[in-house]
Amino acid sequence: MRRRVSGVGCRVSGNDGRNRTRNPIPDTRHPPDNHAKVDASIFNDIDQIAAAVRACTACPLSATRKNAVPGEGGGRRGIVLVGEAPGAKEDAQGRPFVGQAGKILDALLKRNGVLRQEVFITNVVKCRPPRNRPPKPNELAACRPYLERQLELLGPAVVCPMGNSATRALVDRKANITQMHGKAVERGKFVFFPLYHPAATLYNRKLLKGLEDDFSNLGKLARCETGTQRRLFPEEE
Ligand code: URA
Ligand code: SF4
Repeated sequence: MRRRVSGVGCRVSGNDGRNRTRNPIPDTRHPPDNHAKVDASIFNDIDQIAAAVRACTACPLSATRKNAVPGEGGGRRGIVLVGEAPGAKEDAQGRPFVGQAGKILDALLKRNGVLRQEVFITNVVKCRPPRNRPPKPNELAACRPYLERQLELLGPAVVCPMGNSATRALVDRKANITQMHGKAVERGKFVFFPLYHPAATLYNRKLLKGLEDDFSNLGKLARCETGTQRRLFPEEE
C-alpha cells in the first residue's frame, strides 16, 4: 500500500538573483525575471508536462536555452533516472543524456540488460544553465513542480538521482553521493536509489567500480531479482 505523503523529500528553497543588480542595464532581449510560479497539478499526463516545459518561462534559464528538455522514456520498468541539468547537446536536441554522459549512461544500461526506452530519464532542471554551471537555488525551486508531477504521474518503483546535485535536490540537502550511492532510502511516497552520475568517471577514474556496481544493482532491480531487492530494501523482508 502506498502511503500518502506530500512532496518529494527535501525542498530546495532559494534566494534568487542575488547578483542581478550588478548590471544596471536591463537586458531587453529576454523576458524580465518576474516569472510566474509553475502549477503542475493541472497536468494529467507526461506529454502535457513536456509541452508546458517546452513553453516554460518560469525562471531565467528560459532566456538562454535553445530547447527545454522535459525528459523521455517509458515507465515499464518502474525506474526514473534523474540527472542535474541538460548540457549543450541536450539543449541542441531537446532530449536528455544525448551527449558524452549519455553515451556512458547508454552503455551502462545496456551492459546491465536495461533498454534506455524502458526507463524514464529526466533532470532536476529542464533547461541548460549557461556554460553548464550548476543550477541556482531559484532555478531548482522554479523547476521543481514539473519533476514532482512527473514522479506523481509515473509512480515509479524506484527513483534514481544520479550524482550529488540530483541527490541533494531529491533526497537530502546535505547528501554526499560517495556515501549515499547504491543504498535505497525511502522519503515520502518514493524509494530513492542514488547512483553515481555517469559523467563522474570522466573526472575521476577511481569512481568506475562504484559506478559499475550501481548500474549492476539497477539492472538487477529492473529484473526484479528478489535477492537484490531484499538487500537493497531490507525493511521489506
Ligand atoms: N548531464 C546531466 O545531468 N543531464 C543531462 O541531460 C546530460 C548530462
Ligand atoms: Fe521553466 Fe524549468 Fe526551464 Fe526554468 S528550467 S524555464 S522553470 S522549464
